[in-house]
Amino acid sequence: MNRVTKRTWMISLFILALLGGLLFFLGEYAFKASDWVIFSGSPHIYNGTNIGFGTVTDRSGETLLVMSDGRTYSENATTRKSTLHWLGDRDGYIKASTVSNYAAHMAGFDLVNGIYDSAGGGVTKLTISAQVQNAALEAMGSRKGTIAVYNYKTGEILCALTTPTYDPDNVPDIAGDETGAYDGVYLNRFLQSAYVPGSIYKIVTTAAALDCVEDIEERSFTCYGKVEYGSEAVTCETAHGRQSLQKAFANSCNCAFAQIAELIGKDNMTRYVSAFAVADSLTIDGVATAKGNYDVSQAAPVSFAWSCIGQYNDLINPARYMTFLGAIAGGGRGAEPYIVSEVECGGSTTYRARTSTSQRVMSEQIAEKLGEYMRNNVKSVYGDGNFPGLSVCAKSGTSQLGGEQDPNAMFAGFVQNEEYPLAFIVVVENGGYGSHTCVPILSKVLSACKAVMDGE
Ligand SMILES: [Zn+2]
Repeated sequence: MNRVTKRTWMISLFILALLGGLLFFLGEYAFKASDWVIFSGSPHIYNGTNIGFGTVTDRSGETLLVMSDGRTYSENATTRKSTLHWLGDRDGYIKASTVSNYAAHMAGFDLVNGIYDSAGGGVTKLTISAQVQNAALEAMGSRKGTIAVYNYKTGEILCALTTPTYDPDNVPDIAGDETGAYDGVYLNRFLQSAYVPGSIYKIVTTAAALDCVEDIEERSFTCYGKVEYGSEAVTCETAHGRQSLQKAFANSCNCAFAQIAELIGKDNMTRYVSAFAVADSLTIDGVATAKGNYDVSQAAPVSFAWSCIGQYNDLINPARYMTFLGAIAGGGRGAEPYIVSEVECGGSTTYRARTSTSQRVMSEQIAEKLGEYMRNNVKSVYGDGNFPGLSVCAKSGTSQLGGEQDPNAMFAGFVQNEEYPLAFIVVVENGGYGSHTCVPILSKVLSACKAVMDGE
């Protein structure tokens, strides 16, 4: 009797342990299977660090990359160069994580069927246009930097070029190059870089001033070419004389902005930078961008003044700053940018991007006023004729880097037309004067965007 009871108990315990284990496995399977299947050591799915099967196309369906037996890039050499940083290279030096993050969708993995289309893989459609990427690459030439344009109503990135780049079918001797032509070539500058913004940061300062200095538009600011702080000074190249806020913004007058910085104060400026999120990292298709920087906690008055002019220790990430411009264009909130539009696998859509709109970063009135000011900049300074058929609003910047380096040329803004809701950023490293260098590049890229949108 005793022995039988003992055995029954033992067997019951075994069965319980077995059931427990099975339940644990099923739970793990349900929650983690897609991670196991697509883990980056998985040889069916990854080739080095990048996804190794399936097809990637641009927004029009033009094939950019086929991954079956190795990686076959576009037949067009310019397209191979202009899209490389979104596709990854053969050696895994350039990580294309925005696409790799959709590996499970590309594999058509689900819990019941497993990988049901592992032979050819799925088709990932990107939001970028090869035609626009190529126009951007031709306009940038051999210069380094990034140019990006996105639709602030939907979030689609039409263009995000990063240079230098190279042809993956004709790889140059990068390691042996001594001219510096390939410095930082593996970097996706749009996502991974942080730049000194220079005067494009006056957009942030102007927004802060419009919000917290009550009579700011009735005030005037006189520029004598220099504002002294003991032995240091904020300077302009010429004395701009007496100006309204709008005029000071159009003249990009440092001396006026030093006075405006004082009216705003450190605490307010820090609060606005945080509300506008301009120094925060942004996540695009699961990839976190580089962070910017705004820290005036230790800044002397002259340094604080420079921080409101986009110098001192200010840094911005191009993707994040472009998104801020999108929020201004959208009346205080804009769509968050993305580059993967949809994934199809085994005849069904396994992923489709959805527009996600940011939280409000500023009031509609302030956003509209900034739009007016930036529109005025284009009409009175940069030349409206550079952007036929488009109402462009913008601010230029020439960011000083110290030492012997030429300044970076910067340009940021947006298009007001209902049918072309585009926000943009242009960064040309050591490019000299902001508007002089960036306007001709942007002009070509925006007209390519317009042509693509007209054809859709
Ligand atoms: Zn001035």
